[in-house]
Amino acid sequence: MSPIKLNMNEIPYLPPQRVIEAAQKGLSNLNRYADPEDLELLRKLIADYSKVPIEHVVVSAGSNLLLKEIIHMFSKGRSVIITNPSFFPAIQCVKQYATKLTRIQLVPPGFNLNLDFIINELNESSLVIIDNPDNPTGKILLDKGVVKTIIENKNVLLVVDEAYFEFSGITCADMVKRYPNLAVVRTLDKSFGLAGARVGYLLAGKIFLDAFSTFYASLPQSSLYAAIEALKDHRYVKKNIELTIKERERVSKELEEIGFQVYPSSTNFLLIRTGIPDIGSELKDRDVLILDLSTQWLQGFVRVSIGTPKENDIFLSSIREVLKV
Ligand code: PMP
Repeated sequence: MSPIKLNMNEIPYLPPQRVIEAAQKGLSNLNRYADPEDLELLRKLIADYSKVPIEHVVVSAGSNLLLKEIIHMFSKGRSVIITNPSFFPAIQCVKQYATKLTRIQLVPPGFNLNLDFIINELNESSLVIIDNPDNPTGKILLDKGVVKTIIENKNVLLVVDEAYFEFSGITCADMVKRYPNLAVVRTLDKSFGLAGARVGYLLAGKIFLDAFSTFYASLPQSSLYAAIEALKDHRYVKKNIELTIKERERVSKELEEIGFQVYPSSTNFLLIRTGIPDIGSELKDRDVLILDLSTQWLQGFVRVSIGTPKENDIFLSSIREVLKV
């Protein structure tokens, strides 16, 4: 039996058959690069979906790559400001490249963003990176007013990572046209159920667009065709989200009944304070994978993605087995 994967914030549902068939069609041309016209079509579909003009769209093989590229391009000579916790590979990349790094602590139980603290830091050239909603807390950290307050400082570049935006419904994508110093990073890997395809995109203000003018990230044809087919009719995404949110609320309630502290989430995962140091390995022994945050962040905290109802049931009964309740 393969393990139940609740450790990588994936959607547990396959995309529609037509999307899988499109990916398969791409595989039959394995000797070819993707056609630039198909890449353009994908950009157009992303622009329509995001309600942003096509000139502002940059496509990439996963959004992780875009974040890394941005950090490489803009860390030099700037102070880099990132929340802690935040998307862990971005933190690692920032640690590697930033000459001056400021980490804004999100402190339990509220995980509130200290805006005054950020504003105080903005008197020098800065690159600010914020997940909205945040991974792993699941919390919404920004609204348009806060985004505006930050980007009206001309020497600041703001990157908003909206990997989970479809779950929160909150975005500042429409602001990239007006603000050259704003970029929004998104992905089809999560809510579209395309993690295996690795399709990310940037909705970029002018400063970012200029920097990305020589960036050419072609995609494997299978990924490209799958993404095009998914975006042509993306009604299935809404269903993924509805099912996930319904399950998220059920799992959250049951975990609270067990006695764990569960934090409100605007994503497809939950942050849980269990206080049990080896809960991750106990669950792994039962073929359930979750993410233990003790090495990345804090002891006693885990992050669990929302699976299918059956997977969630197995997760919950495994927890009860570990606790003997
Ligand atoms: N940003 C955040 C906040 C994430 O949680 C993730 C994936 N876990 C990513 C970016 C990267 O997503 P991908 O590279 O699959 O597009």
